[in-house]
Amino acid sequence: MENIVDVLIVGSGVSGLYCALNLDEKLNVLVVSKSNLKNTNTYLAQGGISTARNNNDIELFIEDTLKAGQHKNKIDSVSILANESIENIDELIKLGVDFDKENDSILYTKEGAHSINRIVHTKDNTGESVARTLINRVLERKNITVYEDTFLADIIKDKNSCIGAILIKDNEQINVFAKSIVLATGGIGGLFNNSTNQEILNGDGLAIAIKNNVKLKDINYIQIHPTAFYEEGKSGKRLLISEAVRGEGAKLLDINGNRFVDELLPRDIVSKTILKKMKEDKSLYVYLDVTFMEDEFIQNRFPSIYKECLKRGTDITKEYIKVSPAQHYFMGGIEVDLNSKTSMDNLYAVGETSCTGVHGANRLASNSLLEGLVFSKRCAKHINSNIESININTREIININKSVKEITKENQEIVIKAIRKECGDNYDELLNCR
Ligand SMILES: Cc1cc2nc3c(=O)[nH]c(=O)nc-3n(C[C@H](O)[C@H](O)[C@H](O)COP(=O)(O)OP(=O)(O)OC[C@H]3O[C@@H](n4cnc5c(N)ncnc54)[C@H](O)[C@@H]3O)c2cc1C
Repeated sequence: MENIVDVLIVGSGVSGLYCALNLDEKLNVLVVSKSNLKNTNTYLAQGGISTARNNNDIELFIEDTLKAGQHKNKIDSVSILANESIENIDELIKLGVDFDKENDSILYTKEGAHSINRIVHTKDNTGESVARTLINRVLERKNITVYEDTFLADIIKDKNSCIGAILIKDNEQINVFAKSIVLATGGIGGLFNNSTNQEILNGDGLAIAIKNNVKLKDINYIQIHPTAFYEEGKSGKRLLISEAVRGEGAKLLDINGNRFVDELLPRDIVSKTILKKMKEDKSLYVYLDVTFMEDEFIQNRFPSIYKECLKRGTDITKEYIKVSPAQHYFMGGIEVDLNSKTSMDNLYAVGETSCTGVHGANRLASNSLLEGLVFSKRCAKHINSNIESININTREIININKSVKEITKENQEIVIKAIRKECGDNYDELLNCR
């Protein structure tokens, strides 16, 4: 089967959908996702989205982002992130996202390494509220077609230009030719024994980039979140206990009930301190304590975390939460410029699969959804301005004769090999990370 569109977007998380919504409505756009539209890390996001509070906060927001990123960030990208944050949060509100408010004013919360409260949120399920809104808006758009359960097997290239992609849907190969192709394929948590991510996300976009000589950047920068819910013998996808819980005052305690770290230090430092403490105490977890907060506050502010912990046998209003670190986020990825363009012509990458350089070596809490918004909009604008000069080239494509399962396995091996090469001895520690 063959299909011709103006723009193909692979991925239905915040970056793929927001990119689609910012494309010119006269363009014919196809959005695909390998599972259903909601099976994304975006849907899981809890804490919120960072934003400069106002123009006076931009410098401090930049400073906090650079400090958390160990100054390995790309300064131009960080400056764009902070300067374009307010307009994108306003756009989300216009699209219908209902952030928490008090007396009609947005409520801002705090997370680790932010100097002030600057995180907008909808209780503790910000991702779900953003995802639902974007999905609804995309489904309303006449120029956007959506294919769920459709797997990107490879891109189609002509010298150093991307001209389309090979998709597999219901075991059938679909060759799509497009003027611009956007990879919004998310993170790599599916490759780890312990991760907060959706298990389906195993770096397909990265594997495709590697196979087609598209440049990557900083793939050794992998973030370990300090507080995933500990369940005995459980591996794979783990429940995150959002940093916003510490932002609201939760305390980290060792197994003897003693505080051992400033809970609001950057994530990498808190994770390392917890892992060290666990080793010293020969324990598989530490505790997160919210029992001193009002029950009503906990249930209203963190309804999902409260319910999910209760399902797992912990009433967080009365008991300490057992937590340990888990893989959470990928700062590296497919190298892109300030318009999200990769090293291959007509190929863009946005969101967690891309590396804009904003996060440096360690992402500041709640900067990921913001990066997805800011840089996918820039991507859409770049496509809008350049697409007219691009011609669609079609050609005959041979059948790849591989199943989704085979390609997934191949992709996993390619990405693990690349990361292992960059991470050296740290790799095995990262893989297990608790
Ligand atoms: C538990 C949790 C909590 C988080 N909380 C926050 C938070 O509060 N604030 C914040 O800023 N960030 C948070 N993050 C990080 C943030 O949610 C993600 O980094 C961000 O949502 C990634 O968006 P994305 O658009 O890049 O990818 P995703 O939302 O992960 O979407 C990836 C898409 O790619 C598709 N895909 C992948 N491979 C293929 C393929 N081969 N073929 C077809 N489709 C494919 C998938 O089907 C999916 O649609 C959290 C992450 C987790 C896991």
